Amino acid sequence: MSNEEAHANLVVPAFKTEKVAKTQTQNSQGTVWRFSGTDKAAKASTLTLRGVIYMLFDNCSRDVKKTVLPLGHGDPSVYPCFRTCIEAEDAVVNVLRSGKGNSYAPGAGILPARRAVAEYLNGDLPNKLTADDILLTAGCNQGVEIVFESLARPNANILLPRPVFPNYDARAAYSGLEVRKFDLLPEKEWEIDLQGIEAIADENTVAIVVINPNNPCGNVYSHHHLQKVAETARKLGIMVITDEVYNQTIFGDNPLVPMAKFASIVPVLTLGGISKGWVVPGWKIGWIALNDPEGVFASTNVAQSIRQNLEITPDPSTIIQAALPEILEKTDKSFFAKKNKILKHNVDLVCHWLKDIPCVTCPKKPESCTYLLTKLELSLLEDIKDDTDFCVKLAREENLVFLPGEALGLKNWMRITIGVDAHMLEDALERLKGFCIRHAKKTYIN
Ligand SMILES: *Cc1c(COP(=O)(O)O)cnc(C)c1O
Repeated sequence: MSNEEAHANLVVPAFKTEKVAKTQTQNSQGTVWRFSGTDKAAKASTLTLRGVIYMLFDNCSRDVKKTVLPLGHGDPSVYPCFRTCIEAEDAVVNVLRSGKGNSYAPGAGILPARRAVAEYLNGDLPNKLTADDILLTAGCNQGVEIVFESLARPNANILLPRPVFPNYDARAAYSGLEVRKFDLLPEKEWEIDLQGIEAIADENTVAIVVINPNNPCGNVYSHHHLQKVAETARKLGIMVITDEVYNQTIFGDNPLVPMAKFASIVPVLTLGGISKGWVVPGWKIGWIALNDPEGVFASTNVAQSIRQNLEITPDPSTIIQAALPEILEKTDKSFFAKKNKILKHNVDLVCHWLKDIPCVTCPKKPESCTYLLTKLELSLLEDIKDDTDFCVKLAREENLVFLPGEALGLKNWMRITIGVDAHMLEDALERLKGFCIRHAKKTYIN
């Protein structure tokens, strides 16, 4: 079965060679066109992963005579084993058939959906959210966009982790927010370098971003560590923006502690959605939750600015908004358990194979999300310069695409997507092993 047959949405190279290269500002009748595209998004767009992935796809070829295995980016929804639950599908179908999802919605989202999200997030939070604290967005990414637009003022800077989910870099660049990076420490289970934070923050710092569960590292932060993050942020006078879009994708022992637990220490904006948990990124719904018992977001106009930004951007589909209460309330826990069991199995599978591949190691087994970060031991390889070189040659020789760590800010690391069919992963690891044996230093082979 070819990749195209497997799923029409699977992003793989098309191997098309025609290129249309024509620039023209004047046509044959002598008309001068007065318009041209701006480069407003030029820089920001280079910060997304797409460019790297397509460059690697360009290195794949038919001559290799192996299917292309696209394990550089992730969208588990294209694989039948990760199909969303029937409760979620029914919820959408019911709304669609009822005709209740056909109208415009308010900028903040419809009340039943906001109320349902508040209840979903409340759990054992000490400071309960109400529907008024919830704003619906077209996916979690639009939440990032709206929040960054609301915070960007001249000279403002924002603290982002390294490695990071690259959309944050792109959105910050587009909004004109200066980015300052703090490290996640692999030797400390990817904890945040708290001292580093104090060193890079100044009077123009507005926020710190905490992604938990962490994409791409795959860790889940402890209560103790998050409390320290909250205390550090309070000391610096900055808010915490936490991205908990992977809150339902945990397969290790550490449970998620919502950052909102520390809202009495520091105001917290929680970004979330159903894209990852329910494996439906195409449904495009997410939320911003204002965890702010002291009313800081109101007194600093942040809440107002977010609402104003929401008034001028497209809303998530009303059909999905109206289905959201049923999706959140009726989904059986067994759906998440099944999904997470497959991911855990895939992690174990990769780690088992890596035991036989000394030049690719996994310092910290992921316990969440859908990626596995590996470190490349380049000293064991003969003719590989760095992680990008490794991935380019892997694509060229094996039609296998992994993401070079450099794209995430981690030089000489590599990211493997585990949110795929296990057979594909097995095929990929066999090719990786063959590749590493071929490129190993002679002394190492015997
Ligand atoms: C996928 C992802 C998002 C984007 O979520 P959408 O709901 O698809 O917009 C945001 N943050 C992180 C960390 C992600 O992995």
